[in-house]
Amino acid sequence: MAGVAPTIAISPEVARLAEAVVDLRRTLHRWPELGFHETRTSTLVTERLQALGLEVRTGIAQTGVLGILRGDAEGKTILLRADMDGLPIEEASGVPYASQNRGVMHACGHDGHTAILLTVANVLAQRRRQFSGTVKFAFQPAEELPPGGAKGMIEEGVLKDPRVDAAFGLHLWNGLPVGKIGVDEGPIMASVDRFDIVINGVGSHGAYPHTGVDPIVVGSHIVAALQTVVSREVPPLAPVVVTVGKFQGGTAFNVIPSQAELSGTVRTIDARIREEMPARIERIVRGVTSGMRAEYAFNYAFGYPVTVNDVNRAQFARQVAGAVVGNANVVSAGMTMGAEDMSYFLEAVPGCYLRLGSGNPDQGLIHPHHSALFNFDEAALPIGVELLTQLTLAYLSGWD
Ligand SMILES: [Zn+2]
Ligand SMILES: [Zn+2]
Repeated sequence: MAGVAPTIAISPEVARLAEAVVDLRRTLHRWPELGFHETRTSTLVTERLQALGLEVRTGIAQTGVLGILRGDAEGKTILLRADMDGLPIEEASGVPYASQNRGVMHACGHDGHTAILLTVANVLAQRRRQFSGTVKFAFQPAEELPPGGAKGMIEEGVLKDPRVDAAFGLHLWNGLPVGKIGVDEGPIMASVDRFDIVINGVGSHGAYPHTGVDPIVVGSHIVAALQTVVSREVPPLAPVVVTVGKFQGGTAFNVIPSQAELSGTVRTIDARIREEMPARIERIVRGVTSGMRAEYAFNYAFGYPVTVNDVNRAQFARQVAGAVVGNANVVSAGMTMGAEDMSYFLEAVPGCYLRLGSGNPDQGLIHPHHSALFNFDEAALPIGVELLTQLTLAYLSGWD
């Protein structure tokens, strides 16, 4: 493991666990599991939390786990969240602790998130006499698999009993070098929705197109026309993405099929623009298909909402992050059109989602999240532990 830069303030309790958190991350990395199938992972999380003396609730939203740590006296309740799932990717990183679960990989860093949060639970359990209030540790399933695990955990009551006052979480971020922490106010990640279109034409011989209605030609016009939603219908300064990621139809080079299917994703950061998107897209689909004698079926499903950091909580988190890595290393990580189901927690409770620098070009740790070559600088792990520990202690002592 690379040495932590000397400017970083790691407390003795966290420093003592610096190697353990790396070992834990590697253990988790060896056995990644897909969303809602995190059985080994959630068993490990449950056993560790129980060993620390926490109250533990299991089987939330299928494989989710909630650890509850009560301090020395009544006080506020803070929720810290980690996601546990891997991705359907065959790992190609070549690390000695690579995935042993074929075709599944921790390619987003959720192994690191789980290891960090379990280690924070360890540190805070040792210090439970030093704070008032309650800490909830939420280990959620299926961040990568909409509808995701966060929504189900909230529906099953993780924000109640006791009621949660603030929610925080972090994502390892290879776009930032290790030692830096990204803190931003307001929207930081997009909403993600899905649409599916079935175009019904009339199949015929490829040599006699006039005897049929070609759904592939109709679909091609729909793909092209949908580009005008972004370029001509929404304000140029409002970030919106409409991507058709799937276009299927036909079985032979000389046959006009009777049906084609399109599926795509819509990303926005503005709730009102988002609300209008189903009607805008369907209008174009309806116009193109009717103009070309075809018929259609259209479905639009709203997915994760925009991830929005509360302004005050973000400012609070920035101060804490500055105390850990130095103010010069607390930066903006900017807005992305990626999405996160941490958004559901932040929609329900004001809080802040932080991005923890984990890239290291000198060590070749530059591959993007979701790459088969993905890995991150493990020196970020103790920084993450320190950050969430200090955030919790500061929040529960009334400093926000
Ligand atoms: Zn991811
Ligand atoms: Zn992720």
